Amino acid sequence: MARRLTFTKPAAHLLSLVSGVKEESIQNMYVYERGMLHPYPWYSNDSYGGITLPHGNTYETIYTNNLFDDDDLGKNIYDWLAIASHEVGHINHINASNKTADASYQNQIKASKLAHGRFSPQPKAQLRLQTYISTFIGSYIKSGGHDDSPLERQAEQGAVTFDNFYEFMNLKYGKNALEKLFNSKATDKEKVAKIDSYWKEYINNKKSK
Ligand SMILES: [Zn+2]
Repeated sequence: MARRLTFTKPAAHLLSLVSGVKEESIQNMYVYERGMLHPYPWYSNDSYGGITLPHGNTYETIYTNNLFDDDDLGKNIYDWLAIASHEVGHINHINASNKTADASYQNQIKASKLAHGRFSPQPKAQLRLQTYISTFIGSYIKSGGHDDSPLERQAEQGAVTFDNFYEFMNLKYGKNALEKLFNSKATDKEKVAKIDSYWKEYINNKKSK
């Protein structure tokens, strides 16, 4: 069985700030390690990465195994958050796609009634998954590749913002300031408050430029 993990409160909070996605949605995400149960193939060119999909009323990201290793990458807060800040951006794409899927679910219910049950509507969760995957594949094909897809470029904005924020913290508070904060003994609440104050400075600094 794949392990189900979730983001810690400070991580979800930070990811929400950099991506503009609701913290609650990020907190409710399912985080999986890619294994036999979830063999989605199309990140195989990268050494590590993830894919985000609808999961009923919430979302799931399947990350490559090496992000869970006990060696450096598995413990590397920067790598985790850099990838996750991209992946959570797809939550907004999934919300849009779910609307389309739910409309066609309603149509299937109507049609099923008209046909006196000669066919049954597909399960809603399956329809959502299917709709999202076809939207995605369509977007890749149209743009000739994963990285050029407009959906990917949108999601990548979160990763770019994360990078800038991370660099800002390093310059202002010393090298590995973020790692030190996450690894510190402070409570989640204290960590969140610290992140908020760093973020406020980051935004003010950007405005003054
Ligand atoms: Zn992506």
